[in-house]
Amino acid sequence: MTTLDHGIAAALEAALPHRVHRPDSAGYRDSLARIFFPDASRRRPPRVDDGAVLLDLSSHLSHARPCGTLVETQGGATVGSILDSLADSGRVIPVGIVGLAGLGLVTRGGVGYLTRSVGLTLDHLVEVELILPDGEIVRLYEDSTGDDADLWWAVRGCAPSFGVVTEAVMRTHEQGPVHVDRAVVELDALPHYFAVAPTLPRHTTMGAVLGYAVGAAEPAVLVYTATPVLPPSPEEHR
Ligand SMILES: Cc1cc2nc3c(=O)[nH]c(=O)nc-3n(C[C@H](O)[C@H](O)[C@H](O)COP(=O)(O)OP(=O)(O)OC[C@H]3O[C@@H](n4cnc5c(N)ncnc54)[C@H](O)[C@@H]3O)c2cc1C
Repeated sequence: MTTLDHGIAAALEAALPHRVHRPDSAGYRDSLARIFFPDASRRRPPRVDDGAVLLDLSSHLSHARPCGTLVETQGGATVGSILDSLADSGRVIPVGIVGLAGLGLVTRGGVGYLTRSVGLTLDHLVEVELILPDGEIVRLYEDSTGDDADLWWAVRGCAPSFGVVTEAVMRTHEQGPVHVDRAVVELDALPHYFAVAPTLPRHTTMGAVLGYAVGAAEPAVLVYTATPVLPPSPEEHR
């Protein structure tokens, strides 16, 4: 925050006592360690760019609750907490392979175990509340018109560039058990992956995630296949 206008910092501190953490404070380090993926924090100590402000929505906007065939979530919820809120209903939204991701995943894609059977996470958005950079609060829907229709289109793929999503409503699916296999393979297995993946049954998702294991010099690939034990019914599969 070295180049952040001190007037802005002071205004934030006045509005949010004890919740604005300047660099080199214990609160700054604790906050970043808490909200960043643990593995990322281990590799490279997290920091916020000079002049930037990081909003941690997870501390006060992390609630999710089912509402019929929909789920309503606040902007700081994780996909894991959204799934937890749905656990008793037997319904899900498709998410990625970790529960820690938040609305960055929801509004920018969301590829995971159920991608081929029910689609991307962002395909399930039906409504969002977005705070624009000038402070205006807009609610956007699938059937928004005019400028709001453009914003709705932008939010589904690029929300972070247009504002802060403080609430989202998503369509859910009834979901039975899913059989998941995971394996870590070396890079030279990738040609086999690309040969096999397109041949799998319609509702089986095969995905690959490139990454580095702790201490390993070479990247490895996590390959997974996921097959719903029962395929989605036609009305569920949109
Ligand atoms: C271990 C790991 C596994 C992953 N697995 C998958 C996977 O299986 N499938 C997949 O699709 N992706 C996967 N990802 C990628 C993941 O989708 C992205 O990292 C995503 O950006 C995470 O979003 P976040 O909100 O958790 O992260 P953040 O770092 O908090 O946010 C990412 C971006 O989204 C913005 N953002 C966050 N919340 C909001 C909000 N409420 N309103 C507006 N902008 C917001 C942030 O400003 C930032 O620009 C994985 C990432 C990791 C680290």
